[in-house]
Parts: sequence; C-alpha cells; structure tokens
Amino acid sequence: MANRIYIVGMGPGREEMMTGEALNVLDQSDVIVGYTLYLKLLGGRFQGKEMLSTPMRQEEERCRQCFEEAEKGKKVALVCSGDAGIYGMASLMYEIGKGYPEIELYVIAGITAASSGAAVLGAPLNHDFCVISLSDLLTPWDAIEKRLHAAAEGDFVIVLYNPSSHKRKNYLMRACEILLCSMEGERVCGYVENIGRDGTKVEICTLKELRDREVNMFTTVFIGSSGSENINGKFVTRRGYKIEKNIDICGDN
Ligand code: SAH
Repeated sequence: MANRIYIVGMGPGREEMMTGEALNVLDQSDVIVGYTLYLKLLGGRFQGKEMLSTPMRQEEERCRQCFEEAEKGKKVALVCSGDAGIYGMASLMYEIGKGYPEIELYVIAGITAASSGAAVLGAPLNHDFCVISLSDLLTPWDAIEKRLHAAAEGDFVIVLYNPSSHKRKNYLMRACEILLCSMEGERVCGYVENIGRDGTKVEICTLKELRDREVNMFTTVFIGSSGSENINGKFVTRRGYKIEKNIDICGDN
C-alpha cells in the first residue's frame, strides 16, 4: 500500500453497512484521514490507528494531508461517507493528485445515501432515476433549477442530496415549487434522516406536503416519477411488469 492512497466510501454510518473491501483497506492502513464526524462513526474497531481529522469545508487541506502522509511512506486511507465518488472527495483527490504523480489512487466503492435510503423507504429507485444536489456552494442555483426542470420533464425519480443547511433552510421548498410547476401535488415523495445511524427517521408524504417540511442536512429526499406509488406505507416505483391476476380462490374463473 506504500505510495498508494485508498479513497474509501464508508457507507451511511454503521460498520455493518461498509463493504468487506472497505474494512480490509482500513484494517491495513497506517493512517485514516477524514472529516471528524466520519472518524467518530468508525468507532472502536480502528482505535489503534493514527487518525487525522479536519473540520468540514477544508476539503483541499484534507486531501493534501493524505498526499503528504503517503509521501512519508505511510499507508493512507481517506474516508468519505456513502460513496467517495458521489458528492465525495474522489475527484478532488485525482485533481490534486496531478501534482503527485508517484502516488497511485484507488477508490473503494461504498453504499451511497440514495441506495441505503431507498432500502429504508421500500423500492423507490426501481426505474430510471437521477440524483441532484441542492447545495449551491459549488454549483450556481440557476444550474440546479435547470436540472430540476429537466428531471421533471424526463419523468425520472429524483433523489435530492444536500436538501438543507443552516444557510439554506428554504431550498427544499424552492425545489418543490419548481417541481410542482409540472407535477401533481399528490406525487409520492419520501425522505430519510440519519440513514444507518442512531435516530433514523423515515417519512412518506406527497409533494405538496414535502414543500412545507423542514429537513436537516443529514437527510436524503426522494421524489417519485409517474410510476411511483405508496403501497402500504412503502414508496415503490413500478418496474413495469405486468402482474398476472391473483388466483380467484372461489374458483369462479
Ligand atoms: N458521498 C455521500 C454524499 C455526500 S453529500 C454519499 O454517497 O452518500 C451529503 C449529503 O448526502 C447529505 O446532505 C444527505 O443528503 C446525504 N447523506 C449522506 N449520508 C447520509 C445519511 N447517513 N443519512 C441521510 N442522508 C445522508
């Protein structure tokens, strides 16, 4: 692992939701780098390891730290929540890595919030879907609006990452208002907070209801397509199978 950095997706939180590959890589690493909260979520298993934490919003510094540690000959693992290549640090690592040609990068896949959240809700992503982040820190809001319109036009199930933050409290409402221009208010929606962590909370509601809900930054939001429905409290998007009629137990047909 010398001269290599592993960029590890740790899944939504709990150790049992990490892949075996991710656990192996962390077991073999000398130093684990990551945002403070994620290092805490890793728990006792890696207690003996050197841990380097950086606060949120210091992504570039966190990445550079990995390269510096790897240059010392250490086996480095950078942890990201979910999948490191989905609104994670994998691309920034490759960009910064241009300056460190002797160091090889490996991305280890993790379960992203769209996938782990979908499992909690039922089967909302069982047909075409798209993923949009509502964070305008790195993307202009105009582009986000355009993508919301296009996703609605394409009749995709839409997964919203970063639906809220302290500074962006009304972004989910703004997104819902855009979607309500072309979708019916009764459209099935759902959201999951703290997937795979303590205090998991799940809600299924309509788009009209979602507009007025307040969610926090640890929430992933799902908006149904025309093929989605609420089946006994589960959010399901039909794949399109024609289901044969249930057998009539009275034998009339
Ligand atoms: N790389 C991560 C996404 C990081 S962006 C992944 O693949 O899952 C941060 C956003 O991801 C949050 O605002 C939230 O929308 C979503 N998210 C990440 N972890 C979550 C969790 N445990 N529960 C609910 N949402 C989560």
